[in-house]
Amino acid sequence: MNYEKIDCDVLVVGGGIAGMAASIKAAREGASTVLIEKNSFPGGAAITGLHRFICGLYPNKPDMPNNTLNKGIASEICLMLKKLAPKKIPMRMGKVYVLPFATADLVSVLRSLSEKEEKLKIYYNTSAFSVKKEINTIVSVTVQNFNNKFDMIPRTVVDCSGDGVIIQKSGARYKVISPDKQQLSGYTFRVKGLEDVTDILAVKVPYCLSKAAEQKKIPFYLKYTTFVSGDDEDEGYCKLNIPPALTTKMEKQAKKDALLVHNYLSRVLPVFKKSYIVEMSPEVVDREGPLLFGEYTLTADDIINAKKFPDGIVKNAWPIELWDQQKGVTYKYLEPGENYEIPLRCLVTKDIKNLFCAGRCISVTHEALGSTRVMGTCISLGERAGYEAAHC
Ligand SMILES: Cc1cc2nc3c(=O)[nH]c(=O)nc-3n(C[C@H](O)[C@H](O)[C@H](O)COP(=O)(O)OP(=O)(O)OC[C@H]3O[C@@H](n4cnc5c(N)ncnc54)[C@H](O)[C@@H]3O)c2cc1C
Repeated sequence: MNYEKIDCDVLVVGGGIAGMAASIKAAREGASTVLIEKNSFPGGAAITGLHRFICGLYPNKPDMPNNTLNKGIASEICLMLKKLAPKKIPMRMGKVYVLPFATADLVSVLRSLSEKEEKLKIYYNTSAFSVKKEINTIVSVTVQNFNNKFDMIPRTVVDCSGDGVIIQKSGARYKVISPDKQQLSGYTFRVKGLEDVTDILAVKVPYCLSKAAEQKKIPFYLKYTTFVSGDDEDEGYCKLNIPPALTTKMEKQAKKDALLVHNYLSRVLPVFKKSYIVEMSPEVVDREGPLLFGEYTLTADDIINAKKFPDGIVKNAWPIELWDQQKGVTYKYLEPGENYEIPLRCLVTKDIKNLFCAGRCISVTHEALGSTRVMGTCISLGERAGYEAAHC
């Protein structure tokens, strides 16, 4: 087994949407930057979850947005996606706007943005598994890529692993809500061969599955399944919302559930009769996991009251969208035109001097996470963490 040491200014762990933005920004600021990502592609949950919309990009106003709420990489990504798919424009969902995108387009945009950065080196198929620290500073992070092990020796680390891997391994304080209170996780499958698809399917599928769950034909949680149309007329995405598993990610059970749902829909809804599954999420994606215990913990009150902070770094107007295991989804909106700010203190901890975190694992409460975790916000959080890490 090879064992190498690699020095860098900034080490970003996790190449989801937050980690891509963090590493691109750190490199742009002149820091020699290394990004390690355990998958073979960028984008994380946005890709493995087969998401269709970027949420949290726009102001909370009734009219079609011209600009993103946060400038920088979020707005660059939107422009690049628009070039690849000019017909995909912001669309209203409930009281807010989202940007539709195709999975392959987002991967291509993230690759092209990152490949331009000379100061950025990306290691895909690579996992961080241990951290060495001296007093309250991380001195090295050991990572493994197939049979090779590397000791990364960074000046600053940005944890964008979603599950707070570096937060946990470095001994920084964090909080984890009990599994029965965590928000529902997700598993998606894509079908083709649908006949006579109409908008009503978005209502019909959950209604039909809700009835089936009441009659105990399918497990009760499958009533929270949603349906989104695809890019082709005969295509659609069924999005299962399933109870989270903390230790083993329950891919096997999720796959079984997906087949059960598809089988049931094929029997009861004529539109699904000749449909077939063409793609399934490679893994279950979590909405909630360990959260940093940072210098400040953002709360639901801060969000609903559109609170601003002297160290506010990212704006957000996405509602508190909670996927409760018993009640399903609920939304709490900010007043029209309002947005709140996320302070830098939510990205840092007094426990470790050279650690920032961004994306899904920042310091917020369970309720507040319902708003901060969406992709648009994670991009801007990543960008700001990358900036701060480069100048730390
Ligand atoms: C079911 C569901 C539906 C959602 N729908 C939407 C939606 O429609 N629109 C929207 O905007 N948001 C949606 N979200 C929220 C959004 O997808 C995520 O919160 C957001 O993408 C998180 O980004 P991230 O970069 O923080 O984390 P992630 O995307 O989880 O990225 C973390 C990355 O770190 C890598 N990693 C983890 N551990 C290690 C390690 N030890 N070493 C190296 N790499 C590691 C992972 O492989 C991953 O690529 C949804 C979330 C869920 C769960």
